[in-house]
Order: sequence, then structure tokens, then C-alpha cells
Amino acid sequence: PAWLGVMGGGQLGRMFAHAAQAMGYRVAVLEPSTDCPAGQVAERLVEAGYEDAAGLDALAAQCVAVTTEFENVPAASLSRLAQQVFVAPNAHGVSVAQDRIAEKSFFVACAGKSGVMPAPHKVIASDADVDAIADDLLPGILKTVRMGYDGKGQVRVRTREDVRAAWESMGRLTCLLEKMLPLAYEVSVLTARGADGQSVVYPIAENVHRDGILFTTTVPGPNVSADCARKAQDAARAIVAELGYVGVLCIEFFVLADGSLVVNEMAPRPHNSGHYTIDACVTSQFAQQVRAMAKLPLGDVRQHSPAVMLNILGDVWFDGASDVAREPAWDQVLALPGANLHLYGKTDPRRGRKMGHVTFVAPTLAEAQASFAQACVILGIGL
Ligand code: ATP
Ligand code: MG
Ligand code: MG
Repeated sequence: PAWLGVMGGGQLGRMFAHAAQAMGYRVAVLEPSTDCPAGQVAERLVEAGYEDAAGLDALAAQCVAVTTEFENVPAASLSRLAQQVFVAPNAHGVSVAQDRIAEKSFFVACAGKSGVMPAPHKVIASDADVDAIADDLLPGILKTVRMGYDGKGQVRVRTREDVRAAWESMGRLTCLLEKMLPLAYEVSVLTARGADGQSVVYPIAENVHRDGILFTTTVPGPNVSADCARKAQDAARAIVAELGYVGVLCIEFFVLADGSLVVNEMAPRPHNSGHYTIDACVTSQFAQQVRAMAKLPLGDVRQHSPAVMLNILGDVWFDGASDVAREPAWDQVLALPGANLHLYGKTDPRRGRKMGHVTFVAPTLAEAQASFAQACVILGIGL
């Protein structure tokens, strides 16, 4: 059987490996840390840094195609791999998505085709940039240009002086100031595009974040209008086509009170808000990534059941302020109708760390939501 390679050993790589293996592929993972979620299930772990030439060459030599599960994989590594093996997504798509300035400029440049703009923003790279911030950009959020995730690398700012202090605290690295928008709700659109240019778009997902981390994804989203869904899906199609992207890509949008859409960011890989597709769609986002990279026909994105996905953070291992971890009552969660538990094999629960997720599927959304609410009670998650 052919080998598929993945850069990165986290939970996305693990679920990718499951999907690839189900389709008969063998999986090699490149990741520097020995005990990682994907390394536990892959047939081969290339224990090397993401920029290690020997490691990259070993991965390329073994595999018929390589993908990434990690947004911050160096673009140069993908270019090196691409000289030897088919790589999807390619270095271009990943380098735009991993740099907030490049990403925002790209969104602005293709707004004519996508019909959506990003939030008003300004690059902050000098004291003069701080002095020149227009009143209209505040209050805002100062974000690092690279490496931010789960709301890390972001500071909320009200005044120019706040921006100056936050920027100092970020080591005066180039940052992006974004205007704080009044969000009515948030949605994401998962897409996949094949090497032949055909693309598919999954049903729109409604996302709730807590402390900057995805809390739940609900599909169909209770707030999402047909008009909003169509606009977001059309925008997503235009964006992947414009990028010339191959593979699974997820685009996050804000929806404002007047129903208008603002594009937030994109992830060049399967996405946390797409985990519901494992249990609720004909083709999961991970199986779709396998198909795209192996140049197979893309799969049916049809959703067969309404779904609520609950992220499981390390917090649920701890009772109140206690620092003694104890296993959550999975038996009670699994007794709920429609519950599908996914744990990522991480052995050290920490507050704020993604440990797994549960997807509740049911004939109706109300039933899925009822199971979700009961799970929150069982796990001590406040609603
Ligand atoms: P992810 O884990 O999704 O990659 P991230 O760390 O890259 O997250 P963002 O998606 O930019 O960060 O922001 C995280 C969350 O913060 C958003 O989902 C949204 O709830 C809120 N947020 C970010 N930017 C804005 C904004 N301009 N106005 C209002 N809320 C915002
Ligand atoms: Mg992000
Ligand atoms: Mg985000």
C-alpha cells in the first residue's frame, strides 16, 4: 500500500491518519516530539524538526503525497518536499494563511470576487505606526502576525496608549491591529479543492468561542440565514479558486448585526470547526484531505444528521480549583443519545488544552442540543 505523509503530529494529524488508514494507506508523520497524538497511530514517525532537511527528504522518499496538519510549518519545507513529491496544500497557500498581513492583503485583493472584506486593520511596526492609528480603528485587537492560535498572541486594546503598551509587551514585533467588530455570531466554511480545480463546500458551521478557543460548532447553525450561508459559501469558493489551492481549507467569518459578512482568517488544513463532519457527513474533512492529496475524486459533503460538536479541554479533568486531574465520566457522556467521543491520546490534561471533542448527532438539532446540554452538566461545563 502507498504511503501518505503528514507534517505535524497533533490531533489533526491523528484524525488524518485514521482516515487515510481506513482507505488503505500507510501514514508517515514528521514531528520533533516523540509522544504525539499522530505518532501514536501512524505506521512511521520521522522524528525530526519541521525544517530538518534529512527528515523532510526521508518523508518525501517514502510517500506518494505529503500534507500538513500544522498551520505554521515553514513554507520553505513544503517547497523542498515539493521538489520530490506531490504536496497539498502547497507552500503558497500555506504561506498566505500563516501570515496575518499576507492573509488580510489577499482577502482585500480578492474581495471583488469573494464579495467579502476583512475587518479594518493596520500594520503596527513602529512608534510612528502607533501614533498614526485612526480613531476609528479603536477599540481593537492587536494580533501577532505569525503563530497565533486559540486567541493566543492577541491583546484587546482601547486606546493608542494601550496599543503602545501591548506592542511593547509583544517585543515590538510587527503586529496587526484590527478594529473590534460587534459580532452577532461566527461561522466557518470548510472547502476542499482537487488538483483538477473542482471544489466542494461543506454546510456552513456556526461557532461559539470561549476565551478565544472554539467551544462549540453547531450545524445547521441556529442563527444562520439561507442568505448568509449562500454568501459565505460563494465567498469560500472564490477564495480557494483565487488561491489555486489543493486540499482542505477552512475559512472563518464574522457575521455582524445587520447580517453582513466579514472574513476573519483561513486555516490551510482540516479545522476544529470541521470535526462534526466525521460523524455527521458522508465524507469527513480528513477523508476529503486524503482524496485531495491522493488526486482521487472528492467525496460527497452531504450532512446526514444535525450535529453539535463540543470541544473537550483539559479543564474537565479538574474539579473547581483543584489541581488533581481525574478522568471525566465518559461512561455517562457515552450513555447520551447520539454521542460520539473522540479523545486525542494526550496524557497530560492542562486547562485550556484541547484533549478531544464529542459530537452529538441526532435526527433533529433539538435532540442533539439536548444531549449536548446534558453532557455539559456531566462534565461540569457551565452554560
Ligand atoms: P484560531 O484558533 O481560530 O486560529 P486565532 O488565535 O487565530 O484563532 P482569531 O480567529 O483571529 O484568532 O480570533 C479568535 C477569536 O477572537 C475570534 O473567533 C473572535 O471570537 C474574536 N475576534 C478576533 N478578531 C476579532 C475582531 N476584529 N472583532 C471581534 N472579535 C474578534
Ligand atoms: Mg487562527
Ligand atoms: Mg480563528
